[in-house]
Amino acid sequence: MPDHNGKLYIETVGCQMNMLDSELVVAELRQQGFSLTNDVKEADTILFNTCSVRDHAEHKIYSQLGRLKFSKRARPNQVIGVMGCMAQKDQELIFNRAPHVDLVVGTGQLKEIPRLIDEARHQRGRRMAVSLDRKEGSRAEVADSFESYDPARDPSMRPSPYQAFVRIMIGCDKFCTYCVVPMTRGPEQSRPPREIAHEVKLLAGQGVKEVTLLGQTVNSYKVTQDGKLFRLSDLLELIHDTPGIDRIKFVTNYPRDMTDDLLHAVRDIPKIAQYLHVPAQSGCDEMLKRMKRGYTVGEYREMHARIRETLPGCAISSDFIVGMCGESETSYQKSLDLIRECRFKNSFIFKYSPRPGTKAIDLWADDVPDDVKRHRNNEMLSLQNRISEEDNAELIGSTFQVLVEGISKSARKAQAAEGNDDSFLPSDAISDLTPEPPGPVQLVGRSRCDRIVVFNGNPRLAGSLVDVTISDCSATTLMGSIVTLEQQHCETSLPIVL
Ligand code: SF4
Repeated sequence: MPDHNGKLYIETVGCQMNMLDSELVVAELRQQGFSLTNDVKEADTILFNTCSVRDHAEHKIYSQLGRLKFSKRARPNQVIGVMGCMAQKDQELIFNRAPHVDLVVGTGQLKEIPRLIDEARHQRGRRMAVSLDRKEGSRAEVADSFESYDPARDPSMRPSPYQAFVRIMIGCDKFCTYCVVPMTRGPEQSRPPREIAHEVKLLAGQGVKEVTLLGQTVNSYKVTQDGKLFRLSDLLELIHDTPGIDRIKFVTNYPRDMTDDLLHAVRDIPKIAQYLHVPAQSGCDEMLKRMKRGYTVGEYREMHARIRETLPGCAISSDFIVGMCGESETSYQKSLDLIRECRFKNSFIFKYSPRPGTKAIDLWADDVPDDVKRHRNNEMLSLQNRISEEDNAELIGSTFQVLVEGISKSARKAQAAEGNDDSFLPSDAISDLTPEPPGPVQLVGRSRCDRIVVFNGNPRLAGSLVDVTISDCSATTLMGSIVTLEQQHCETSLPIVL
């Protein structure tokens, strides 16, 4: 690939949607003659793909931008850009706080990036492309200003050749009081099913085995095509028999939209992972009301029971916020109770962080001291870890069908220590440069219920489905060994769990 546009360094923080955005932007820039570097010092173009969900993530970006002031002085041709949620939210403020930044590009304007880099380099001067604020126009006008960015896929830019994210919707209309996403990613808009099916087919042609459908509230997906209403269950039905695709996942679910048709699709379509991420956020009704989550704890419990009844082996994970304004010790204890009751596979736990532009920051003081937030965070995490480990221990002796992702992190570290570090290279480089290890190494993959499984095997198994019998576990990982053909003949009654 020619690199007449020089070297590009990109740093990505935040959610899977950001990872996908970066993958697509890099792929497009490579097409236009940029080459990727891991060394910010040698970069001609530096991009930060940012997240606004927590204050801390933004601070880190601003301090990194601050450090680049001298680099820009030494190399006036260098282009420094901020893209993503922080760009949409802070806009001019970024130029004010970091005057050496050239580009500010919001989540709904990513397709403008190649042109804006070119203009900033050749004409100098700042460039900004952002979408309308939610109050700056009608819903339709604001929605039009946020464009879904889904250009052609470049297989070499994915972290794994066998797994890919596919965006099925953008934005959010739920307006939870603590969350900036409805402002930074705009109104909820679903992509046409035909486009998604086409993209999945292309990905399968590139060797992808597992697709993860992305949306901020993925199960709110709704679009009318050729007079027919497509919900997420219909979309899953449409893409499930794409040749080459072995597994389909979708994140993140909104509890109120967990309808029976979707649960039936997960039950009846064999390629769909038996895994649902459905954030509860709190186990206390007063807090849920304050968060404007749109359901009560009783309704969450009812939804959870419906999943358990329809999908007995399905793993369910959650998110919780601790220390939101007004969260008393009693409210917090109710969240712990919900975790004990639901026994989630895992939970992502966040300390509340007041965000400008949200209802919560206008309405309530951030009144839970930071040490209390930290204590609650740690205590909740250790409860969740204990539950995860206990439940994983119950799985010892079971056999899981695992989609092999490749060499495990610890085996990679060991290889790096021996001088074969490929961990920061795109996937095409990994297959080209990694020498074939002498024998079996530790591999990693995921079960159909999204559990991480490690086992010894030949790296050539990457991308295939293997059966692994579990012999040990930790809170986050199952350890086991591949079921050999010989074992399959001797132990015909070996239970295949998921
Ligand atoms: S559902 Fe709530 S928390 Fe999730 S993205 Fe939308 S506003 Fe944010």
